[in-house]
Amino acid sequence: MKKLLEIDNLTVRFSGPDGVARAVNGVSYAVEAGQAVGVVGESGCGKTVTALSILRLIQPPGKISGGRILFEGTDLLTLSEEEMRKVRGAEIAMIFQEPMTALNPVFTIGDQIGEGIRLHRGVGKKEARQQAIEGLARVGVPDPAGRVDAYPHQLSGGLRQRAMIAMALALDPKLVVADEPTTALDVTIQAQILDLMNRMRVDTGAGFVLITHDLGVVAQTCDTVVVMYAGRVVESAPVGELFENPRHPYTRGLLASIPSRGKPGERLREIPGSVPSIFALPQGCPFHPRCPEVMERCRVEAPPPVAIGLATVECWLHV
Ligand code: SF4
Repeated sequence: MKKLLEIDNLTVRFSGPDGVARAVNGVSYAVEAGQAVGVVGESGCGKTVTALSILRLIQPPGKISGGRILFEGTDLLTLSEEEMRKVRGAEIAMIFQEPMTALNPVFTIGDQIGEGIRLHRGVGKKEARQQAIEGLARVGVPDPAGRVDAYPHQLSGGLRQRAMIAMALALDPKLVVADEPTTALDVTIQAQILDLMNRMRVDTGAGFVLITHDLGVVAQTCDTVVVMYAGRVVESAPVGELFENPRHPYTRGLLASIPSRGKPGERLREIPGSVPSIFALPQGCPFHPRCPEVMERCRVEAPPPVAIGLATVECWLHV
């Protein structure tokens, strides 16, 4: 399969009065056309910062300080802002956790979905409005012809979320980066959105990066899982393999105590201890203060990534 996205050794820093925060520390993962990659890990592990980096949406004092983000072979980090604007929306779309981040309160839903359609497809206002209505219908918005003229504040949170998803998917992007896209939605609508995503993968060959806490979503939607901790990918593997045979103690901790893996709504478990501050990451393996299998070596030396079949793991137990 063709590599759609390749994140290679990405590093992101935030500078502030308290020092430099090491938010992302050499992250690498890839998405192939038609593939969905689930990114999991506790809050503050760099999942969202990595996702925002793909679209070059990191704001100062944040800065991408190293690595490459190859989209169909072109390093997005070398594009001008104008070139990048053409990529956003039409080629790569992002679905945010909070719809008001993406929706403009002073324009109707139809205007906002239609604007991108007019700009990128060169169609007239009437046709764009019609396509916006169809887009709203695709994500299960009831009475889409009526709702297309609503302003964001006139919709419920769930409908706003669906309007934003419709906007992101309207141009049939090649890659969709979705940050907890269905968390706020009820189970039926969530299933409908995931089904739509799955159909897009088959019909248009779109690739997905899906950041989620919901293991059911991962099991039902993703091909590969990337587990992040302290701004690093500590384990990645095909979804079945990761669930059956988690190798990294952090992954095992996340998956432990879940009675039946892969059921909708099953969220990652809290594990003892807390995520280290990105201002003061521990020496050696960043997980060592919480690891039940810590060894002397783990406290001084960070483990390198090791490939085991189709999986990759960063842990001295597997070197
Ligand atoms: Fe635990 Fe050591 Fe593996 Fe880190 S390298 S996860 S501390 S065993």
